[in-house]
Amino acid sequence: MRLINIYQKILINQDLCIQCLKCIRSCPAEILVKEDDILKQQKGSITIINPERCFECRACEIVCPVLAISVICAVDSISAP
Ligand code: SF4
Ligand code: SF4
Repeated sequence: MRLINIYQKILINQDLCIQCLKCIRSCPAEILVKEDDILKQQKGSITIINPERCFECRACEIVCPVLAISVICAVDSISAP
């Protein structure tokens, strides 16, 4: 498994992401965005702004149809194979 974006609490596996944008629409804190909206890149990816505003509601994780998002709650460190 390749993890591209690892933020404070949110892991997004870009290999799985199909860019349906459901996570963006589901986030009450409005901190998930498409990267190309910021960087004007041709290939978009989901990224997070102001990660400190995430309150671990897990809405993004639940709504993702391909299980590309994991919300890490109350964990100091993470590892991936
Ligand atoms: S866990 Fe909740 S607040 Fe945090 S990024 Fe996901 S939807 Fe937004
Ligand atoms: S809900 Fe999942 S598949 Fe859809 S854009 Fe977000 S991370 Fe990608």
